[in-house]
Amino acid sequence: MKKVKILPGCISCGTCSYICPEVFEVKDISYVKSDADLEKNAEKIKEAAQMCPVGVIEFEE
Ligand code: SF4
Repeated sequence: MKKVKILPGCISCGTCSYICPEVFEVKDISYVKSDADLEKNAEKIKEAAQMCPVGVIEFEE
């Protein structure tokens, strides 16, 4: 079961929602959309996690 978590410390840069708008939505901070398809977007989620400048995206596979 895949899980995505945003740890404390997001600086709202928008990188994750730029890379994968299907999963991430940045308001005051980044949120994982409740209807996000984590299976289908796994590769893009990993890319977003790698590109996050403060490393707060946690992806469990
Ligand atoms: S890439 Fe990281 S810091 Fe930037 S909005 Fe997403 S979670 Fe926040």
